[in-house]
Amino acid sequence: MVDFTGKNVLVLGGSRGIGAALVRRFAQGGARLAFTYAGSKDAAEALAAETGAEAVRSDSADRDALIRTVAGRGALDAIVISAGTVVLGDPLTLDPDAVDRMIDVNVRAPYHAAVEAARRMNDNGRIIVIGSVNGDRMPFAGAAAYALTKSAMQGMVRGLARDFGARGITVNSIQPGPTDSDMNPADGPMAETMHGFMAIKRHARASEIAELAAFLAGPHGAMITGSMQTIDGGFGA
Ligand code: NDP
Repeated sequence: MVDFTGKNVLVLGGSRGIGAALVRRFAQGGARLAFTYAGSKDAAEALAAETGAEAVRSDSADRDALIRTVAGRGALDAIVISAGTVVLGDPLTLDPDAVDRMIDVNVRAPYHAAVEAARRMNDNGRIIVIGSVNGDRMPFAGAAAYALTKSAMQGMVRGLARDFGARGITVNSIQPGPTDSDMNPADGPMAETMHGFMAIKRHARASEIAELAAFLAGPHGAMITGSMQTIDGGFGA
C-alpha cells in the first residue's frame, strides 16, 4: 500500500461516493488530510469522525471561497478534485442555469482549484481530477453538457502538466466508467444499459477508483503526467 505519512492532501468533494473513498484511502495511508463538501453535512461529519480527516464546507460553485479554501491548506503534496455534478436531459428543454452551474462545478472549479493548489504546492506534488470516460465516449442521448465538462478537463490536464512540470508536479485525470455511488447506483435504472457498453459488466467500486488515485499520488506516479487514466471496465474500448 502506498504510504502518505506526513503528506498534506486535500480532496474536493469528499463527503460521498468516489470522494469519500478517496478520503478513506488517503487516511489509511497516513496523510494529513482535509476534504470539502457542499450540502451533505451529516455524511461529512461522520466521515471526518471515521477517518480523522478535517471536513471543510466549501461549495465549488463559489470560486472565491474555493480559492480561499485551497489556499488555506498551505503547501499541498496532493489535491484530488472529485466534486462534480451531472445534469441529464433533452438539451432543448434543459434548464440553462442548471447546465451553467454544472459547468461551474465541473470545469471552472477544477481549473481554479488546480491553479491555486499549484501556487503553493511542494515540488513533486500531484494534481488529480476525476474526469469521466464520457470525456472520450458518449454513447447515449441526453448527456451532451455533462460530456462537455469531462472533455474540457482533458485539455486542462494536458495544459497544466506543461505549466507545472518543471517543478515535478504531475497533472492527470482519472476517467471512471460507471461507478457505484449516489450519482450512479449499481442497481439504478440505467445500470443494464451501461453494462451493455462494457467488457466487464459491472459498476466499479469507488475504492477501485481511489486505489488508482493513490498510485498516481505516490512515488510510482512521478513520470505520469498530462494523461487520462481510464478505469471503466472497457466502456470506452
Ligand atoms: P456523488 O454524487 O455520489 O458525490 C458527489 C460528491 O461531490 C459529494 O461528496 C458532494 O458533496 C460533492 N459535491 C458536489 N457538488 C459540490 C460542490 N458544488 N461543492 C463541493 N462539493 C460538491 O458523485 P460521484 O462520487 O459518483 O462522482 C464524483 C466524481 O466522479 C464526479 O466528478 C463525477 O462526475 C465523476 N464520475 C462519476 C462516475 C460514476 O459513475 N459515479 C463516472 C465517471 C465520473 P455534497 O453531497 O456535500 O454536496
